[in-house]
This record gives sequence, C-alpha cells and structure tokens, in this order.
Amino acid sequence: MTRRLPLFALCALLLMVALSGCGEPLREAPITLKGQIFGTYYQVILATPMRRDEVADIEAGILETLEAVDASMSTYRKDSELSAFNRSPIGEWQRLSPELMQVLTISRRVARASEGAFDITVGGLVNLWSFGPEARPETVPPEDLLEERLAQIGPDRVELDTKGGRARRLSDVYVDLSAVAKGYGVDRVGDYLASQGIEHFLVDIGGELVLRGHRDGEAERWRVGVEVPDEHRQVAQYVLALTDLALATSGDYRNYFEEDGRRYSHTIDPRTGRPVAHALASVTVLHADAADADAWATALSVLGPRAALDTARREGLAVLTLERDGEGWRSRVSPAFAERVGDAALDKLGISRPGQAPATDNEET
Ligand code: ADP
Ligand code: MG
Repeated sequence: MTRRLPLFALCALLLMVALSGCGEPLREAPITLKGQIFGTYYQVILATPMRRDEVADIEAGILETLEAVDASMSTYRKDSELSAFNRSPIGEWQRLSPELMQVLTISRRVARASEGAFDITVGGLVNLWSFGPEARPETVPPEDLLEERLAQIGPDRVELDTKGGRARRLSDVYVDLSAVAKGYGVDRVGDYLASQGIEHFLVDIGGELVLRGHRDGEAERWRVGVEVPDEHRQVAQYVLALTDLALATSGDYRNYFEEDGRRYSHTIDPRTGRPVAHALASVTVLHADAADADAWATALSVLGPRAALDTARREGLAVLTLERDGEGWRSRVSPAFAERVGDAALDKLGISRPGQAPATDNEET
C-alpha cells in the first residue's frame, strides 16, 4: 500500500530543494582570487559578497578564460596557436582563431597610429636581447646579428585578411604579443565576469587593469596606485580614484638587465633594434579596453617623453608620464587624462595641467 504525502509536506520538500543552494556559506566582500598566468600574477577582486560555490564556479571560469588566451597567444608555449603561426611557411595564409585575429588587428592599428613604435614583429630582437623565451645570456648582442634581424622586421611583414579570418608572414618574423596579450586577457576576464552578472570588480594581470562599478557598496571608486620609477621599492606615487575603464602601465624600471653600468630595458625601439634609452621611466594609459591601453603604454614608452605626449594629444589618449629628472622625476599628463581625472584630482596629486609649467618636481630625498 502506498501512502500519499500530504500536499503541505510535498510543498515543504520542494521548497527545501529550491532553497538548498542558499544554505551555502556566504563569502564576505571583497573576494580576492589570485594566481599565476602569462609569466606574471593575476588578481581579481569581486566587491560584492557571494556564495562559496558561486565563487568556486567564477574562479574556474576565470582560469578557463586565461588559459584560452595563453594557449592562443603565448610565445613561451611551443604548442600555442601563435607559436604555430611563427613556424608557418612564409607567404602561406594561416586560418586563425577570432581571438588571435582580434589581437593582431588591435596591434596593427596601434602600430600604424604610433608610426611603427609598436611592432609585434620585434620578437626576434626581443629574443636577441634575452627578454624572450629563447634563453640567452644577458649581454649586448653582436652588431651583425642585430642588423640582420632588424632588416627582417616591420608591422607590414604580417598581412591580415580580417574578413577571411587569416594571416600570413611575409618574411621570417617572430611575432611577440607580450605587450598586448596581458591587456587582452584582462578584457576577456572582465567580459566573462560581466556575462555572469557581476557588476563590481577589478581585474589585474601584471599591472594591466580593468575597473568596473564600485569597490564597495558605498559607491566608492576603485583606487589605483601609479608607482614611483624605482625598482627597489614598490611605493604608490599617485593614487587615482577611477572606475569603468581600463588602465595599463609600462615602465623601464622593472624588467631590464645591466651590463657595464648601463641598463637595458625590455622595450625595444623597432627603429634601431635596441632597447629604449631615454628619460621616460613610466607611461600610464587609461582606455576603454585594456588591450589598447597595454599596447599604447608600450608604444609611448618607445617614443620617449616628448613624442609620447605629442602622440597622446594627437590620438586623444589619456596618458600620465613619469620622466626621470636628475635624482627625482617629473610627471606630465595629456589633455584627455586631465579631463578624465578632473582638475581637483590633478591639484591634489600636484600634477600640472598639459601645457602648464610643472607645478612640482618631485625630488627624491
Ligand atoms: P610593460 O608592462 O613594460 O609595457 P609589456 O609586458 O606590456 O611590458 O611589454 C613588453 C614586452 O613587449 C617585451 O618583453 C617584449 O616581449 C615586447 N616588446 C618590446 N618592445 C616592443 C615594441 N616596440 N612593440 C611591441 N612589443 C614590444
Ligand atoms: Mg604593454
């Protein structure tokens, strides 16, 4: 004989099933998820409390997103899509993923707008200067080898067929997306979080960031520190309160090697084939997309203090530069940067407006 459950018991049972997810403990905000990717760190901060199982799902989604970018664009992996492209026969079209095509297209745009200062074909030279995956001693490479590789490169040596979703190498260039892929990864993680209905977050891969919403429920903007150009300390020089944008910083004071008292930066000037050597210590770019911010930060680092700000003005880019000046440094901003952060913030930071004489030269003591 079967006993029938009374209706109210059945309802109670169904309700319990429906609510069972809610029994999961809540994780307080901010929730920080960290790890290693692209040879650097990543950090994601979620500003709203979430259930533990939801956090685990989100973390898995973030990792999957980062892995996909790494598998496509890393030059440190022989099995990446980019490494296969770099081995492809010269002149032969290669069908590429939409993601890789997108990054190649962004790179081409920044290369053109920066008159070749940004050049993803510098890979061969990056390796020669021992900043790439080819393990080499940290020494100045021989002149003849340098000239030989310099003759091979140029943004136009990679031809894109955007409609056909394919690309080809026109000479034996080695494409290196290190200066744009971190930013692209940040964009992809940001899109993933947004697709999961998350509105308030920060994504940081090796100093390239995207900021969305607020850092807490009190409508407080995210705070980002732009460091002083000093490899021995990690001290915030300017703290900017920002949101709903991406930000990237290129600096010559972190990744470099020294020989005979000279410092060799990992940013290569494609016009000379040599590491950049000028007084520009760091460039911070604010942009709608982290990939563009990342690429432009590198491009402007190549151009040097004057040309960086002239180009920023011409292209309407929001840029903050820190320039070495004796024992201290000097900061300058582009008009778009001044507009974005506002006069009050500039005054508070002691940064002069574009075209104005510097208000303060920050002498180090
Ligand atoms: P930073 O944070 O200092 O900008 P990135 O990692 O964004 O550093 O970019 C530096 C890397 O980009 C170098 O290690 C090299 O692989 C590559 N690179 C160097 N010079 C250029 C250049 N002129 N254009 C494009 N990529 C470059
Ligand atoms: Mg960069």
